[in-house]
Amino acid sequence: MRRKSQVTLGDKMNLIFLGAPGSGKGTVAKKVTEKFSIPQISTGDLLREELKKDSRLSWELKSYMDSGKLVPDSIIVPMLKVRLSKKDCEKGFILDGFPRTIAQAELLGKEGVKIEKAVLFDVPMKEVYDRIVNRRTCKSCGAVYNILTIPPKKEGVCDKCGGELYSREDQRPEVITKRLEVYAKETEPLIEYYREKKKLIKVDANQIPEKVLQATIEKLRE
Ligand code: ADP
Ligand code: ZN
Repeated sequence: MRRKSQVTLGDKMNLIFLGAPGSGKGTVAKKVTEKFSIPQISTGDLLREELKKDSRLSWELKSYMDSGKLVPDSIIVPMLKVRLSKKDCEKGFILDGFPRTIAQAELLGKEGVKIEKAVLFDVPMKEVYDRIVNRRTCKSCGAVYNILTIPPKKEGVCDKCGGELYSREDQRPEVITKRLEVYAKETEPLIEYYREKKKLIKVDANQIPEKVLQATIEKLRE
């Protein structure tokens, strides 16, 4: 039997997954997590967990997220710090959705979080719009589907847990446009930022998920 520990990426692998909304980075992150036993830390998922609590904070968060704006660092950074201090992060992690601005990238440095590689999931902008429109998310476990390209076995039902699939509030066309704008303005500069630091890996994300995964693993091993 093949042991999981045979598949390693070096002693410690702190990774950042970069890419536009809809680039598929979250889907690939879930697979890389299974393969290398390092957790996927999705700030979007952390925030959506908070939303479920129906607290005062969750109402504030909702207004940012449903309109496609970034939530303030004063909210997201403490949440991320708590998550990164957990034991499962000792051998590394995949940051999915953070940093989204140069300021957030610099905060990581200030907090002493060392990053080995930043993986860019490269996909044409006209592709991402359709991908987001067709995306469905499981209410219970957060699994992500695409009704055209990665459909669930039974319509509206999660393959993994039987949960109900829904279309996120931030997938309304006008909100998608806003999110893509925010990405271009705030997040895209990170590509140059990590390229200058010689940490950037570029993966062609305009292919089927298995191929994207394969390309990612190959590049990480180089
Ligand atoms: P996607 O990858 O499809 O853009 P996410 O689940 O990563 O979606 O994020 C959803 C929303 O959560 C964002 O539109 C934003 O409001 C908020 N968010 C997630 N990560 C961050 C972050 N690092 N900084 C600020 N806001 C964030
Ligand atoms: Zn599910």
